[in-house]
Amino acid sequence: MHTQIYLLRFSKESSDRPLVYRLVKDYDLEFSILKADILLQREGMMILEIKGAKESVKAGLDYLRGCGVRAQRLTSRIRRDDSKCFQCGECAGICPSGALSISRPSMAVVFDAERCTGCDLCVPICPVRAMEIIPDRDMALAEDLA
Ligand code: SF4
Ligand code: SF4
Repeated sequence: MHTQIYLLRFSKESSDRPLVYRLVKDYDLEFSILKADILLQREGMMILEIKGAKESVKAGLDYLRGCGVRAQRLTSRIRRDDSKCFQCGECAGICPSGALSISRPSMAVVFDAERCTGCDLCVPICPVRAMEIIPDRDMALAEDLA
């Protein structure tokens, strides 16, 4: 499962069409709306977390772009909410970069943000969603636009 955050900008013509819902119906994607400012017949913006197979995400974005929506991927980084993490170790088994690892002999799950490549594999595997995607300065820029 691929998870990324996108900034979508809608033209006046596309703002009153239910385009985002086609992502679920036609492209087998899941999404969460993180922020939206859309009114009928006005330009608008939406920040969307999209989840799905890489090819499906690409096809869904191509569809949106074909409908006149400008879609820009927001770069992100990962953080761990230590208040949620209960040290189960699931994420350490999947992390390809070694950013998440088990320290012996304490068996504590250690997160080294410097080694994180932002692949997002740990986000869906964490049972309590302790691993979170945090948009970087591009997100701040998008928020300023709202
Ligand atoms: S999968 Fe989640 S709860 Fe388990 S160690 Fe990793 S961050 Fe903590
Ligand atoms: S995003 Fe990827 S590299 Fe970073 S901690 Fe999670 S699994 Fe490891």
